[in-house]
Amino acid sequence: MMRTLMQNQPPRVGFVSLGCSKALVDSEQILTRLRAEGYEIARTYADAELVVVNTCGFLESAIDESLDAIGEALRENGRVIVTGCLGKRAETVRAAHPGILAVTGPHATSEVIEAVHAHLPPPSHPFISLVPPQGIKLTPPHYAYLKISEGCNHRCSFCIIPSLRGRLASRPLRLVMEEAERLVASGVRELLVISQDTSAYGVDLHYQPDIWRGSMYKSQITDLARALGTLGAWIRLHYVYPYPHVDGLIPLMADGLILPYLDVPFQHASLAVLRAMRRPASGEDNLRRIESWRRDCPELTLRSTFIVGFPGETETDFNELLAFLETAEIDRAACFQYSPVDGATANTLSGAVPDEIKQERYDRFMIAQAAISARRLRNRVGRVATVLVDGIAEGRAYGRSAAEAPEVDGVIHLDGPAQAGMLLQAHITGSDDHDLWGEIRVQ
Ligand code: SF4
Repeated sequence: MMRTLMQNQPPRVGFVSLGCSKALVDSEQILTRLRAEGYEIARTYADAELVVVNTCGFLESAIDESLDAIGEALRENGRVIVTGCLGKRAETVRAAHPGILAVTGPHATSEVIEAVHAHLPPPSHPFISLVPPQGIKLTPPHYAYLKISEGCNHRCSFCIIPSLRGRLASRPLRLVMEEAERLVASGVRELLVISQDTSAYGVDLHYQPDIWRGSMYKSQITDLARALGTLGAWIRLHYVYPYPHVDGLIPLMADGLILPYLDVPFQHASLAVLRAMRRPASGEDNLRRIESWRRDCPELTLRSTFIVGFPGETETDFNELLAFLETAEIDRAACFQYSPVDGATANTLSGAVPDEIKQERYDRFMIAQAAISARRLRNRVGRVATVLVDGIAEGRAYGRSAAEAPEVDGVIHLDGPAQAGMLLQAHITGSDDHDLWGEIRVQ
């Protein structure tokens, strides 16, 4: 598929984006740069002159999915550049797919662009004006992910992200705010703050102060949240590692500056398992904190992730986790069955839990969580919620309130006409284990 200098058509790159929201932001940055340089983004393999595959390497299943995606792009197109978390293991990728053109690790926009240049040169007159000021977004126009840092200083024993993505590197507060402001000016109504470790924001910058719109803010998550809260959009915090200073975010939620929603990955509740995972605090400490968060901000919605079947997890540990879920009344919880990841220190731990017990604990977790979620949602019936409309499915509008994050939580099904991006009031009329139903109130 050789290009000639005589061609007037802009070069066309296909893009496959896999993995988490952090990887999605990497994809957006690569696409923005490509578009800024005058490349066109092809919608099909056949239309593309080259395909970039942004991979995930977090779990074995994600690695398999990434390798399959690379294989498909090679079959359908033939010219493939690989990036993302799995790209960090270049030898694995090359062993499976020797025909790829290049491979880079995650968060490597410049390297990916260089590789694209080497195999598909940019046009001589970049179409700079084709790029909207907010860059290229893969999310709908009314919400966007805002990445505030990359990497992680923790060493959780089940995770290899720090070795894949490096130590914490926070973006300067002014740059984060400039991006956030551009997004809001382009029509984004909800910003989803993401990173590997949102609450650690600014540790590497020694919390140095920065000036934004004439006010001084420390490069620290509470100050950043306060600054974001001035933009007039919904601000939702994800991946908030449970440090003590997270308590400082709760008053901002109670005051309505940011959404009363915390995504805190507790991972477990048993002290023994948390220690083996190299995670902080115990279930009891976390319960005390949750109680005080809810006292100070009764509207708070808690989302969390947990791992069952971690090496050494006993039936007593698991029951402690179930009891924690019940007492903490975690509104939304995702559960993963532990699986070893190449290079993780947890692989050396003894006490592997047999697969059938992992499955059985996972099932019990999900049943318990569905009951808690159903109970929490039932309590909302009869109330009025502000809903951001996400779209229409099967002729019916659906959206989310402060209590639901996109893609990971349930939705509110609405009766009546509405369009994506609208903010409206809905009277909540029904619920099930995960979703709500509501009637649009005439404004
Ligand atoms: S906090 Fe732990 S689980 Fe999260 S990225 Fe860092 S090491 Fe991995």
